Amino acid sequence: MDLGVVLDRLQSEGNLRTLPQAGHEGKFVLQSGRKMLNLSSNDYLGIASDKLFISEFLEGLVRDGAVFTSSSSRLLTGNSGEAVLLESELARWTGKEDALVFSSGYHMNVEILPAISDSTTLILADKLVHASLIDGIRLSQAKCIRYRHQDLGQLERLVAGNVSRYTTIIIVTESIFSMDGDVTDIAALADIRKRYPGTVLYVDEAHAVGVRGDGGAGVAREQNCTDDVDFLCGTFGKAMASIGAFVSCSRVAKNFLVNRMRPLIYTTALPPVNIKWTRRVLSEIPYMDERRRYLAHISGKVRNALEAIGRKCPSGSNIIPVMAGDSFTAVSLASSMQDAGYYLLAIRPPTVPEGTARLRISLTASVSDVEVDDLISRL
Ligand SMILES: *Cc1c(COP(=O)(O)O)cnc(C)c1O
Repeated sequence: MDLGVVLDRLQSEGNLRTLPQAGHEGKFVLQSGRKMLNLSSNDYLGIASDKLFISEFLEGLVRDGAVFTSSSSRLLTGNSGEAVLLESELARWTGKEDALVFSSGYHMNVEILPAISDSTTLILADKLVHASLIDGIRLSQAKCIRYRHQDLGQLERLVAGNVSRYTTIIIVTESIFSMDGDVTDIAALADIRKRYPGTVLYVDEAHAVGVRGDGGAGVAREQNCTDDVDFLCGTFGKAMASIGAFVSCSRVAKNFLVNRMRPLIYTTALPPVNIKWTRRVLSEIPYMDERRRYLAHISGKVRNALEAIGRKCPSGSNIIPVMAGDSFTAVSLASSMQDAGYYLLAIRPPTVPEGTARLRISLTASVSDVEVDDLISRL
């Protein structure tokens, strides 16, 4: 493969990626002498830029000491007390029997799906699921069919037509989609799962944990169907301002994963200091209703404004796409918004389907009402 030729082709298509360098100052991004409001952050509750909260945590570390590596896999000497406590706290928070922690959301999805499936498994995945879920499916022995985005009619026909031919059908979806910001009807999926025994529900709540539902436990909680989700997945890198991920599930499922997930067996566990921080954040998240309500309020304002100017908006959350069509238009929109002081980025294929390049607005609770009004007038 000629690496240079491939790069030249990406450049000519407008799809060349580079690693953007940016400094951060609270909710602002500093880049090439410009200070822009960060509208591309996953710090949905503003915890990552909460200086007071962070300095309190650091004082505790200075006082009590901190451990910066696990030095080993969890199955050898790396199973810290912090990890064990975090898992029981996560289980309680999400209302499941048990939980298991991962190094990242990407790891979670590529680890679980190959472990829980074999050649007698059918995976039915929403067309727009995250790359990490697709990679997990690719690494598995299962057969996979992707159903049209949020088309639960098609999904049910696929379940009904295949349920007798496979030992297990795993329905894989997200509760809030990363690029469209739309919210999945988990209750309807739970209903399909109930009517077709042998069906398992796997929901990635990466963009919902911390932000939605009672105590921030996610969309499954919001829709009262925690019990129907077999693998309830969340990540710590977004609203929870940390690193890592978790699945909440039955104790049997957890014990199975511990025995069968090769990456868990063969990788060094997350450092206890990071887990301690995740636990600190988790201890506050249930009490952040004010921030969740405010985020819902400003998100509704921006969505309504887009609808009012005739921009169809699939979003039901704080992730709000502004469709551009081709990559060049998206890039030029992003650059004019950056000139106007808003740090927005173009999302291009293959992250989103061809012809649906867009700006992706990601609102956080740190953005003020006035800044939201300014953004709306600019749009
Ligand atoms: C961000 C994201 C991930 C990956 O999580 P990381 O912790 O960043 O690796 C997985 N699934 C979905 C749906 C995501 O949006």
